Amino acid sequence: MTTVLYADALVTAGKTVLDAELRFANGRITAVGAKGSLGALPAGAKVRDLRGRILIPGLTNGHTHSAMTLLRGVSDDHGFMPWLAEVQALEQHLTEEDVLAGLQLAMLEMIASGTTAFADMYVWNSRLIQAVSDAGMRVVAAPATVAPDVVMFPGVTARDGAAELAHTAQLAEEFHGDPLIKIAFGPHAPYSVPREFFVETIAHAKESGLPIHTHISESPAEVAQMLDRVGKTPGDYLRDLGLLDAKVLAAHCVHLTAGEIGDYVAAGAALSHNPVSNLKLGNGVADFPEWLASGAQVSLGTDSVASNNNLDLFEEMKLAAMLHRGVRHDAAAVTAESVFEVATKRGAKAIGFAGSGELAVGKCADIVALNVTGVNAIPHDNLVSHIVFAAGGHDVTDVWVNGRALYKDGEHLTLDAQNIKQRARVSAARIRAAAAEKA
Ligand SMILES: [Zn+2]
Repeated sequence: MTTVLYADALVTAGKTVLDAELRFANGRITAVGAKGSLGALPAGAKVRDLRGRILIPGLTNGHTHSAMTLLRGVSDDHGFMPWLAEVQALEQHLTEEDVLAGLQLAMLEMIASGTTAFADMYVWNSRLIQAVSDAGMRVVAAPATVAPDVVMFPGVTARDGAAELAHTAQLAEEFHGDPLIKIAFGPHAPYSVPREFFVETIAHAKESGLPIHTHISESPAEVAQMLDRVGKTPGDYLRDLGLLDAKVLAAHCVHLTAGEIGDYVAAGAALSHNPVSNLKLGNGVADFPEWLASGAQVSLGTDSVASNNNLDLFEEMKLAAMLHRGVRHDAAAVTAESVFEVATKRGAKAIGFAGSGELAVGKCADIVALNVTGVNAIPHDNLVSHIVFAAGGHDVTDVWVNGRALYKDGEHLTLDAQNIKQRARVSAARIRAAAAEKA
């Protein structure tokens, strides 16, 4: 059955159509154009008139740890290493029910703010991945590891790092062919994962073709640590271990040198820019304009809520567009158009969903409707500029992924919001109490 959407406009990277019509069927966009220009409606077509709204592609979050919504507000004014220690102390008390509640809470927030796909490194198993599939979002799920003999989430799983490598490959087999689900390896970072185990993970990734999602050069402290320990910067160190022979999703990359950026871009590694998290933790400013100019595969990411403290990609877009204008004293350093492209088409491709992120014929029907009747939208002559600088996640009214409606007129259709919010409140309180008791 064909669904037909009428809207005030349609905005996709490089193209705006006013008074727009979009049609999709079987999860794919079948026609895009000005209203009335696409010929007769197919028989039985379902029409939605979204007057007062514009259509954009679903947004892609290129780096997050979604279940960490439960840790919102933890260690808010501490630097990276003390923050990490405080977060990990709480994570020791997480159960699978907690993680499920945190993940579903994150999906409520992501869907309601227009995110349709996310690359996530955390604890993952069949049940948690199935929860994403049931909610209807796209995910690249990377079970996190630090060392072969370390169980990262003891309340959730007994699997240590070594067992997690085999488990990751099993998950990839189990969800093979699911259009919404991709699996990646998730070695945490070069400073936290022993050399031999990183080498082993790279070997698994090369053999299986699965990507490696890791943190690289996020903080000045870890760069100093690696220089001290191995005499190399984190990017060079991982390159020399053979990382670039695998597909790579590299998060943060705040302190990559120009040489490292060149090597990673040449190898096709995808770099994820997380400006809010990088600033909140006092980690610095990544050279995003250089990434864009080099033609790198790039995404925007929120990182976890524990360093953000929300999952609204509109905030990342705005900050990504403005941050470097301030740093470089150049209002043209990063354009709204380029940031919008990264949040949609470029970001989706960077994490492996090249069929999404664009409102064009043949692409996946991952679509977001934004209200443009609010006080923040009068006037909105330049739509891309409106989306990046004036709009926010709160303007999202409707979301489809793969043609399935997940959110309609501000209501979730695939998740029980009341139930999830209550479970998340209970879980958040419980892990704090458990950690306090232990301390
Ligand atoms: Zn992260």
